[in-house]
Amino acid sequence: VAEKETLGFQAEVKQLLQLMIHSLYSNKEIFLRELISNASDAADKMRFEAINNDALYGNDHELKIKVLFDKEAKTITISDNGIGMSRDEVISHLGTIAKSGTKEFFSKLSGDQQADAALIGQFGVGFYSAFIVADRVTVETRRAGAEPSEAVRWESTGEGDYTIEAIEKINRGTDIILHLREGEEELLSSWKLKSIIRKYSDHISLPIVMKKEEWDEEKKETVVKDELETVNQASALWARSKSDITPEQYEEFYKHVSHDFQAPLAYTHNRVEGRSEYTQLLYVPSHAPFDLWDRNKRGGIKLYVKRVFIMDDAEQLMPVYLRFVKGVIDSNDLPLNVSREILQESRDVRVIREGSTKRVLGMLEEMANSEEQEGKDKYATFWKEFGQVLKEGIGEDATNKDRIAKLLRFASTHADSSDQTVSFADYVSRMKEGQEKIYYVTADSYTAAKNSPHLEIFRKKGVEVLLLTDRVDEWMLSFLENFDGKELVSVAKGGLDLGKLEDEAEKKEHEETETQYKELVEKMKGALADKAKDVRVTFRLTDSPACLVADEHELSANLVRMLKAAGQ
Ligand code: ADP
Ligand code: MG
Repeated sequence: VAEKETLGFQAEVKQLLQLMIHSLYSNKEIFLRELISNASDAADKMRFEAINNDALYGNDHELKIKVLFDKEAKTITISDNGIGMSRDEVISHLGTIAKSGTKEFFSKLSGDQQADAALIGQFGVGFYSAFIVADRVTVETRRAGAEPSEAVRWESTGEGDYTIEAIEKINRGTDIILHLREGEEELLSSWKLKSIIRKYSDHISLPIVMKKEEWDEEKKETVVKDELETVNQASALWARSKSDITPEQYEEFYKHVSHDFQAPLAYTHNRVEGRSEYTQLLYVPSHAPFDLWDRNKRGGIKLYVKRVFIMDDAEQLMPVYLRFVKGVIDSNDLPLNVSREILQESRDVRVIREGSTKRVLGMLEEMANSEEQEGKDKYATFWKEFGQVLKEGIGEDATNKDRIAKLLRFASTHADSSDQTVSFADYVSRMKEGQEKIYYVTADSYTAAKNSPHLEIFRKKGVEVLLLTDRVDEWMLSFLENFDGKELVSVAKGGLDLGKLEDEAEKKEHEETETQYKELVEKMKGALADKAKDVRVTFRLTDSPACLVADEHELSANLVRMLKAAGQ
């Protein structure tokens, strides 16, 4: 038998523990939500592994979560008969932080408690939240399929290190034993624990059981029985009817599936029947995750088949440009042993993806078109956090391009602010008489766009120009030629055709000027032969003497700059 070993936490874990204990104290009840959420995930994984290996269950088929407490010992124990952990898993899951985005998270910490507390909420606290209420945490676990003698005990006071040793454990799964800090005794009550569970964990689909308490007439006090009772609803939330679910329950379920700490912006819950049968419960988060731009990141959709958890991050169920959407899709048609490879080719999956895409776009439209300030503010938040990602949809999703175009928001010369609030429809409603096109300028910053010499003539004529400064804009525009039948035109490209915005007198004057300067232009062309393709008299400038323009069919100067920066 191996000796008890002491191992050090990864530096980030130490930092996280310190931060958590101090900044989340006012919210300490969440420890129970986090531990129950982990127990529920462990049961999901158990069910999944047992699909092809029923023997894993042994004689213990009924998955559940037990919450017990001991007043004398001042402990709370959360037990599950889920998948459990091997020794190596304990070390990597409870000694390090493997979450994607960890580096970015730690680089954002400032040392300012309040700012960091807000950040930690975004990162998701998980298992370590146990140390908010406990000064010692013991984990005893046995992986499904392992022998009783192959179990492991992990223990830590949440400071620099933890111990790990081999133990015997009769049952499969994990017990988390919290040795409460001085002053946390109020948690040692059936009533208190039940109310926390109902508040945060009612949506958990497994039964959460506790010992029954009963009034004893003879002793004149409540006594704890050995009998267990289920304290939550214990049915999959998404399978319940909408009218039976409160907004709070939807919100808590979101926190469970997304590992997010903040409330979502919006959700949509539907049962779809017909050619393909499935239920979807999809959420738009209120803030971007740290790894939104990580190319290896998968989606945020959990796939279930007939209530059985199949996999996390089923990226085939959502297009890449909606990768920020979180939630659950439960299919009635897919086989239980479906793999990522099968998902790739499945016709059912394609139907689900198309249906879910429409639902998400519908949810965004509802926010965007809301008459109420709350909805408007929500859409502004959405746009700030995820607008750049949604723009990818213009190139990626030809079917829904028009719907996505209506959801786009831009800065423009009309508002004179870098806030992206102007839609194409807003722009069109303000078009000048005789204006046939939608004008835009691209640049790598708002200041550069706003001060572009190309805007001079438009300012003079009072014509609005959209100011596009996001990295994806140029790429996006290559897929978007017009909106509502109106051509999108860069003010920096080619011979600017102002169409009917130019009156007859102006045209005549321009022609005369061109003839007048013909000789000079020819000389300049000669002098700049190897630098400029063409030299033209222009009327688009009012203050600047000259400017560079790209050919109609060439990459714009801004795109060339971007490609250079990307090393192309
Ligand atoms: P998250 O749940 O977001 O992955 P946590 O900090 O809550 O992060 O948990 C870390 C990891 O520890 C989990 O991903 C899981 O692998 C493991 N773990 C925690 N609790 C349990 C449990 N009760 N049973 C099995 N594994 C667990
Ligand atoms: Mg967790």
